[in-house]
Amino acid sequence: MAELELDALTKVFQDGDDEVVAVDDVSVEIDDGEFLVVVGPSGCGKSTTLRMVAGLESVTSGRIRLGDRIINEERPQNRDIAMVFQSYALYPHMTVRENMSFGLEESTEMPDDEVRERVEDTAGLMGIEGLLDRRPTELSGGQQQRVALGRAIVRDPEVFLMDEPLSNLDAKLRSQMRTELQRLQEDLGVTTMYVTHDQTEAMTMGDRIAILDGGRLQQVATPLECYHEPANQFVAGFVGEPSMNFFEMRYEEGRLVGDAFEYPLPAEIDEAVAGATDVVLGIRPEAVELVGERDGGHDFPVVVDVVEPMGNENTVYLEFEDTAETLVATTDGMLRITEDERVTARIPEDAIHVFDGTTGEALHNRTVVDEEVASVPTE
Ligand code: ATP
Repeated sequence: MAELELDALTKVFQDGDDEVVAVDDVSVEIDDGEFLVVVGPSGCGKSTTLRMVAGLESVTSGRIRLGDRIINEERPQNRDIAMVFQSYALYPHMTVRENMSFGLEESTEMPDDEVRERVEDTAGLMGIEGLLDRRPTELSGGQQQRVALGRAIVRDPEVFLMDEPLSNLDAKLRSQMRTELQRLQEDLGVTTMYVTHDQTEAMTMGDRIAILDGGRLQQVATPLECYHEPANQFVAGFVGEPSMNFFEMRYEEGRLVGDAFEYPLPAEIDEAVAGATDVVLGIRPEAVELVGERDGGHDFPVVVDVVEPMGNENTVYLEFEDTAETLVATTDGMLRITEDERVTARIPEDAIHVFDGTTGEALHNRTVVDEEVASVPTE
């Protein structure tokens, strides 16, 4: 097992006369045994980053360090890294056993009976021991994915690289495999980089997540840090479903002024925001409260536009009168609320975020205080 470090990693593709900077000066250290999820929208450079680490793509500049080796120039098969792709890339003419043995036989001098034993042990771990003599076409998507994972595990590599390995599975199987994969990675303790565009996978699987946009690293932190303390507006909007509400506003001493409403700032936030001109006010849907009547400057009259009942909760789209601005709130699923109803929405001051309107950088994040964090009651 080993630590993996990307140091100022950059990849520039030549597209005719144009240069495409796919990965732009990305630096991140992944601890030995850590599960790092790399997440971001399509085209942000996730796969290119992973492919450079695997050795499938050359590095334009920067360094990749695995343990105490710089591996930039090493051939992929010598890097001691196993990769799992979205397309399972199993050899169709080989049985499961042959698919799993192939890499070991090619890259090591391991005796046949040891290869057999390792393949059978791994197949047991993945719950596919009964499928060893089948070919890939005789397997379901979930079984093929297990074989693809098993083929990576059997090599006992220093690092796993996974590129959207679950995205071909249906929602239920995906969520089951998510848990299984997480448990397996923890048991095996192999340093893992996992690429996805799915923020649920990022939030639930990673020890830490690295968020990329336009080839640039936006933040590397635990999922909850990214959620509560986003480095910028991009991260705030990317993490969380439904997304954080954003309102473009102007800072005037002691308050924010926007098209839909004015928001008085408490002294501490005022201090953090002072000096900015254009800002963006952010509030997560679950932090919006629907209250009986207006009581202060953070309560606003709104009209219910659409209610989406999810069972456990409702997603409620609220409109400020005379503007096209919408505020999304999540409420308890048992709350009765109907379209066109006039209600009062509270945007609590202790839950707001403020971002610089030009750079997107967070000027103020909500602080999660210990009293808000509940524990499970014990006897
Ligand atoms: P997705 O989630 O859609 O797979 P991604 O985040 O993995 O996206 P990459 O595949 O890493 O994104 O691509 C990053 C950028 O580099 C994109 O703008 C893409 O068009 C560009 N790119 C990737 N490969 C090449 C190539 N061989 N030649 C030119 N440009 C490329």
